[in-house]
Amino acid sequence: MNESLSVRIQDYLERLFPICRSITGEGNRKTLKIISELIPIEILEVPSGTKVYDWVVPLEWKIEDAWIKDSKGEKVVDFKNSNLHVASYSEPVEGVFDKKTLEEKLVTHPTIPDAIPYRTLYYNSDWAFCLSSDQYESLKAEENYSVLIDSKKFEGSMTLGEYVIKGQSSEEILISCYICHPSMANDSLSGVILAAFLAEYLSKKDNFYTYRFVFVPETIGAIAYCNIREEELKKVNTGLVITTVGGPGPFGYKQSFNKDHFINAMIEQVFVESGLEFETYPFDIHGSDERQYSSQGFRINCATISKDKYYEYPFYHSSLDNLEFVNGNQLSDTLSLYKKLIDKIECNRYYRNSYPNCEVMLSKHDLYPKKGGAIDPNKLGGKSELDIILWILFLCDGKMSLWDVSEKIGASIDEVDFVAKKLLEKKILNEVLN
Ligand code: ZN
Repeated sequence: MNESLSVRIQDYLERLFPICRSITGEGNRKTLKIISELIPIEILEVPSGTKVYDWVVPLEWKIEDAWIKDSKGEKVVDFKNSNLHVASYSEPVEGVFDKKTLEEKLVTHPTIPDAIPYRTLYYNSDWAFCLSSDQYESLKAEENYSVLIDSKKFEGSMTLGEYVIKGQSSEEILISCYICHPSMANDSLSGVILAAFLAEYLSKKDNFYTYRFVFVPETIGAIAYCNIREEELKKVNTGLVITTVGGPGPFGYKQSFNKDHFINAMIEQVFVESGLEFETYPFDIHGSDERQYSSQGFRINCATISKDKYYEYPFYHSSLDNLEFVNGNQLSDTLSLYKKLIDKIECNRYYRNSYPNCEVMLSKHDLYPKKGGAIDPNKLGGKSELDIILWILFLCDGKMSLWDVSEKIGASIDEVDFVAKKLLEKKILNEVLN
């Protein structure tokens, strides 16, 4: 484990966790500003009222304070203690209510008494408080409670962030995460931080592919981004939606809509080579922003590597999804898997045999492998380096990807890439750019 990396990640978790985010607002701008310390994010502000396909960008929401006070003036629920106490996009309210009237506006967690649930009211003109069952039980039937939500909705904008790292090829890999959840650590925030660190990693390398990192509010933000960057995204074939990557529980991955797409088998190869157990979640129509990116008009194969996947852990969408549940070490472990995956994606290129007519005279090019050469035959599923050379020269016609070659001959893409690079150096292979 990379200790200094975990420490850096932990620092960002602690700084970003307390911020009150939503689908719009200052919290999102502040979050992207902090992330900009790692990578130069471009900010796009989409004005309220902008039509994006079948949706309209909502009014901006701002909240200053909220509480419920008993008749003695004691705060029994206080937004300042947890921003989950107010359902996101709650209308402003100021008044006195008895418990019975107030009850309709109170939400508790269905199974965990000390958890504050997470609720949103993005497209309703309503308000609600979320509280623990213990807080709820402490409210007395005969008591009157003063209630304040100091919020407002106004013509503002929705904030999106993008960072494109240009590679040799114009072919893009989409990497998206969502910035819209308030103080929860695994859902939303862990994905934002992982994406930022992954982008930082890629920004320091010479890459073959172009990487498009997208930081948007879930659903409406992804829809707006698809609308704004429609032309670019229609050309993209492969993507990753990064979310719920920092829990203490199991690793897993959600498959892209085409389970035979290389990204799925490649992720499995990363897990197997890392000696990790993992859960497989087949593509499902529910989920995160792959719902937009995989829609008919875009059809981007988006997969997700997770650690304690959304829906699956008991603290999901509650105040217990916090920094006791998520930490820099766990997040750093998942980050290393994403890096390994990206390294494999980088190997997946197209090459053409420069000598298509009959066999190459290998000895002339010093390609007859010596005994105990660079490659361990056991690692290659019994394939010798000579086998791999011959298969590459047989299959690489500029149309078959190196991943498909590796699958066909039953070797890891890293090993096939190692041999391909040798052949490339000797100009026996040449690279085909898309
Ligand atoms: Zn969520």
